[in-house]
Amino acid sequence: MSSVQVAVRVRPLNEREKLLSSKVIIHMRGNTTSIHKPSSGRVDKLKDRGKTFSYDYSFDSTDVDSPTFASQAKIFKDVGSNVLKTAFDGFNACVFAYGQTGSGKSYTMMGHKVDKGLIPRICDELFLEISNRNKSEAMSFYTEVSYLEIYNERVQDLLKKRPPCSEGGGLKVREHPTDGPYVENLSKHVVQSQSNMESLITLGNASRTIASTGMNDFSSRSHTIFTIMFTQGLVDGELPHERRSKIHLVDLAGSERADSTHTTGTRLKEGANINKSLVTLGSVISALADLAVSGQSAKKKQIFIPYRDSVLTWLLKDSLGGNSITTVVATISPADVNYEETLSTLRFASRAK
Ligand code: ADP
Repeated sequence: MSSVQVAVRVRPLNEREKLLSSKVIIHMRGNTTSIHKPSSGRVDKLKDRGKTFSYDYSFDSTDVDSPTFASQAKIFKDVGSNVLKTAFDGFNACVFAYGQTGSGKSYTMMGHKVDKGLIPRICDELFLEISNRNKSEAMSFYTEVSYLEIYNERVQDLLKKRPPCSEGGGLKVREHPTDGPYVENLSKHVVQSQSNMESLITLGNASRTIASTGMNDFSSRSHTIFTIMFTQGLVDGELPHERRSKIHLVDLAGSERADSTHTTGTRLKEGANINKSLVTLGSVISALADLAVSGQSAKKKQIFIPYRDSVLTWLLKDSLGGNSITTVVATISPADVNYEETLSTLRFASRAK
């Protein structure tokens, strides 16, 4: 059984949107998210009832004072704790943040020092749970992490020193006959404490490739995958055995279309490659969502899932489908000025359901 969960999170208006006197066009109620088309005249306004989408979660972060405000802790409670439970049960899990640049992907995945996002919260809780279980059960735990970036369909290790120019080189993706796809020569780091983990995250974040585009000075054009490889040693009666699981936490590149940022040359190529990964991811996730609804396996239903069409989906193959849990957190701006991009994100998220 594979499962795809979809959450949408709307952030507060930012300073730029406030300066433009932007109107809030997103409204959430229960699990639903509605979007209203910005109107120029009264007639349009009367006609527009908006579009409403239903997801597993609709997280409203626009108003801190609202009783339904979705804090970082709430996102962890609803999404992150399920990921950890899956890993302790011995299955793989994957969380993606998908959305336009500036919509809150990094905030949701990484957060700030004082308001931690999903990745640090999952790491904190993992070590807390390990120490709780160590006290009560005959078990051993072994945790390793890797952190990589996919830029222009090339893989770079974020935890190893490399040449400053991210264009050169790149690591190769290979497929092991039984263990599945992996990145050759990607460094893996054993972590024994939450502070170990924190230093590695800081190191990796510092080496992310950022390039300016017409749309945002430092918008991120790369996908990053932070992976926790988790092994539990168990004793079942007399027999010792291992239970292995992987958690992939993915911050995707901005989903805005290449043509909307007036890009040329290198940027255009990047745009095409970013789209290739995002389009393939969309196809893979919607195929998996269809399978989950039908309750059949891809083989039985004779569905071809195009994992190998992009580096991103190829690498995540063993954590998408099968017994793994996939969660998409689609992040959006509440402002009328972003109507088109927001609608496109809501449609992507809806296709994943
Ligand atoms: P992205 O990674 O999608 O490009 P960021 O996560 O960097 O976007 O978010 C852009 C800005 O908006 C940041 O300053 C971030 O702190 C702020 N922000 C994003 N989401 C939220 C939220 N839910 N609540 C408060 N601030 C947010």
